[in-house]
Amino acid sequence: MSNQSSQQAADDRSLEGVIAKLNELKAKIIADKICPELAASATQLVFGDGNPKAQIVFIGEAPGKNEDLQGKPFVGAAGKFLNEMLESINLKREDVYITNIVKYRPPNNRDPLPEEKAAFLPYLQTQLEIIQPFIVVTLGRHSMNCFLPDLQISKVHGQPKRYKGMVYLPLFHPAAALYNGGMRQTLIDDFSKIPAIINLIKTANTITN
Ligand code: URA
Repeated sequence: MSNQSSQQAADDRSLEGVIAKLNELKAKIIADKICPELAASATQLVFGDGNPKAQIVFIGEAPGKNEDLQGKPFVGAAGKFLNEMLESINLKREDVYITNIVKYRPPNNRDPLPEEKAAFLPYLQTQLEIIQPFIVVTLGRHSMNCFLPDLQISKVHGQPKRYKGMVYLPLFHPAAALYNGGMRQTLIDDFSKIPAIINLIKTANTITN
């Protein structure tokens, strides 16, 4: 490819161009043999789901049993709750993009290990560079701490943060909030702020902290 045509490929923001880049990234994770032990125990790589040019990207921790079997993130009970919250702000799953930090199911649903999160992080960052969302909504502390390492979810949930040119909204994890009445309502309340935060990002770049 000439320099000019490789630049054109890099700049291609057509839906087909973005899908092609995401497919290449997915293939690269497999080719690079990221976390081979997790890969061996999992059914498949759970890369991401939804609109490849979404304004909002949701990032969870790692696939669970249902996600591992179906190859899609957030398809179990936590996913059902996430879908309900999306509907409450007039969005469907197909409007947003959903993924996880760690893209193979950890055995017995254990927490992802620091080295597993670190191994997947550069790929997650590339995934975000390809999608180019307005906002990244992190679900749970594992996801938040990948991008905002010094913050505590209990203190900053529901508060948009700008970091290195991207706006992050840390939220509680839907699985943690599902059966905890107080946390559940807090998550629903925080979620309801998403449309106003997106409008703010679109109309004025006023979020600085
Ligand atoms: N929890 C996550 O963090 N991710 C999923 O995909 C499902 C449950």
